[in-house]
This record gives sequence, C-alpha cells and structure tokens, in this order.
Amino acid sequence: MSALPKPKLGEPYLLTPGPLTTSYAVKQTMLRDWGSWDSDFREITSEFRQSLLAMIHDTENLFDCVPMQGSGTFCVEAMLGAFVLCDGKVLVLSNGAYGKRIAQTLAVINRDYVEIDKGDYLPPRGEEVFNALRDDPDISHVVVVHCETSSGIVNPIAEISEAVYAQGRELLIDSMSAFGALPLEANEIRFQALASSANKCIEGVPGFGFIIARKDALAAAKGRSHSLSLDVHAQWKYMNTTGQWRFTPPTHTVVAFREALKAHSAEGGVSGRGARYTKNRDVLVAGMQALGFETLLNDRWLSPVIVTFFCPDDPHFEFSAFYDILKSKGFIIYPGKLTVADSFRIGCIGQMDHRVMKNVVIAIKETLTEMGVKTAAPCAAALKEKTILTVDKETTL
Ligand SMILES: *Cc1c(COP(=O)(O)O)cnc(C)c1O
Repeated sequence: MSALPKPKLGEPYLLTPGPLTTSYAVKQTMLRDWGSWDSDFREITSEFRQSLLAMIHDTENLFDCVPMQGSGTFCVEAMLGAFVLCDGKVLVLSNGAYGKRIAQTLAVINRDYVEIDKGDYLPPRGEEVFNALRDDPDISHVVVVHCETSSGIVNPIAEISEAVYAQGRELLIDSMSAFGALPLEANEIRFQALASSANKCIEGVPGFGFIIARKDALAAAKGRSHSLSLDVHAQWKYMNTTGQWRFTPPTHTVVAFREALKAHSAEGGVSGRGARYTKNRDVLVAGMQALGFETLLNDRWLSPVIVTFFCPDDPHFEFSAFYDILKSKGFIIYPGKLTVADSFRIGCIGQMDHRVMKNVVIAIKETLTEMGVKTAAPCAAALKEKTILTVDKETTL
C-alpha cells in the first residue's frame, strides 16, 4: 500500500473525529495570504463547491453546494433555519448528543419538533419513522444524524429516507462525520439537504462547513432564515452572483480544504477514503478486543468513523490517567459522551492508516500495564445492559 504523507511535526495523533490529524501538505498551504475578493480565491471556492457536489452523484443537476463560515453546528443551524418552515414541524431522530443538539437548535430558533429518542445503542428504523409520520400529518421534515459521532453508530439513512418520502415529507441529514467517507448518493437516497464540515472526513482544518441542498428548496428559502449571518439562501444567491462569500471567509481554511480535496480524490474519492477508515476500525477493534475491551455497539452498527469502548472495570483504571499516559505516547483520544456507561472513544479518521492503529493498540496495552490494570473487561452491569438494550430489540425490528 502507498505510504500516507507524513503529517507529523512531533505532534500527537488526534484520534478524535474532527479536528483531526491533517497532512503536512494541507498545513503547508496555509502559509500564504489570500484576498477574499480576488479572482484566484473565487476560483478556489467555485472549484471546491463542484468537487463536493460531484461526491453525491447528482446526475440530474438538482443540487447546489453552499459553504458557510463557522463550525459544523453553524451549518446544521443554518440548514434548519433555511428549510424548515416557520410554522413547520420537525421529527428529530435522536440517538446521541448530536441528535439532541438538533432538537435544542430547533427550540432556540423557534421551530416546532417532536423526537424519537433511541438512547445510545440503537438506530431509528424506517418502520417507526413511517408510523410516526403517518400518525402526525403536521410533520413537514425529518432530521437524522448520518453517523452519530457520540457513539459511532451509523444510522440506516436509506430506509429512513424511503419512509420519509413514502409519507410525502422531506429529509434533512446531519452528515457531518460521514460525508466524504460513507456514500450518500442523490440518485440512491432522497433528501432535501445535508450539512457537513471541512474538518471531518475530507481532512481539512476547521473554519467552515457546507450545505448541499436541492436548488428548488434553496430558492424557496428566501427570507425564511432566523439569522442574518446563517442565511443559506442569501449566501447562495450572493455566491452565485459574485463568486464571493457574503462575509469574510476563512481564507486559509479554504485553501487548505482544496489541498485536502486533492488528496481525497487521489485516494479514490469516497470509496477509497471509506476503505482506509474501515481498515483502521477493523485493526483497532480486533486489537482492543484482544486486550479484553468491549465495544459499546453491536458489530452491525459500528462505524468506520469512531468507536466507543467501555472503560475497564479494573479498580486501577482511571480515565484521566489513561488519557495522559496515552498522550505522552503520542495519541490523543476522546472521552465518552454517553449518558449511561463509562466509556471512551477512538476516532479512525484523519491522516493515519492501519499501521498507526496497530501502534495505538500497543500504546494502550503498555498504558494499562503501567497503570496496573490487569484486564480491560468492562463491568458486568454495562455488558448486561448492552445485551438487554440491543439483542432483544434488534430481533423484534
Ligand atoms: C462534529 C459534528 C457536528 C458539529 O460539531 P461542531 O463542533 O460544531 O463542528 C455536528 N454533528 C455531528 C454528527 C458531528 O460529528
């Protein structure tokens, strides 16, 4: 296999799902200043919008891509404010922190919503979405998180989309941590809009995100946004007319993103990127299981983006010490973001391959030894809960 460009300048690997470890080439492009009105910069913006659109195989040319300053959450908020009617009602499919954030956003921007909350372990399924929509004709939109980064679960958006459109409603997707590595093709999965950001699977640096939406929906969004700066319609119109961003763009982030897109394409696009992340995940999970760790999720819902592991039950295990020792060995991990069990997360995305993941496992093994942790097995209660909450329900769905 080809060697990944060396990302390191003595920094630790970020095993976190964005910001993440970027290539040296991506970092290097930021050593230059750009005028935001200049034609060269406008050309870069136009090019990257096209590259992103190409990833969804929009063969009928129904979609456009609207970049938006800020972090991913800004783009989700912008998307909700643009496409949900002021008197509309949203069904939020929630199974983790990002689903909850969507509900919270709708509350703040004053859009009515109801939730299906599946807890931490399970995805929302097409059938229950279909039934919820059948029972509530006021719902205009369904919002789903593609990969729920707080647990790593990949939600079954194809069957959810089918249910949504069978009921004549619209689907919005938070594809933040999935876009660019998990396929989402417009000719296969119907949706009105999706949001993602520069610093996840495309492997750019933070500073902006983008909304990919149907042009008819973009046109209809005029004057609807709750916000001046997050107005997707206004940004779209202005950009298509002038080639410029409406307000100061994160210029360095944009040129870095162009470089990241070159690497994405060279790696084989979405499928190539997804394949590397999948191998990262497989090597990581196999290595961790050999040490006695257990994943939160059953295998069928494990994403190639991030994996949640239960903390060991051993009394010598303490997360902050574990974190610090791992950091001293060159790896930064993520604490858990669950409501129930003690856990931590390891990202599989960014400039690293399966060889790095092998080294992660070795570093974790050494760390456990240094801490005096004899076994990485989680507490029996966590495992029991996983079994009760997943196996029983999955067989009935
Ligand atoms: C990263 C992420 C976001 C956005 O988070 P920010 O911190 O605002 O960039 C939203 N949804 C999901 C699923 C994410 O992974």
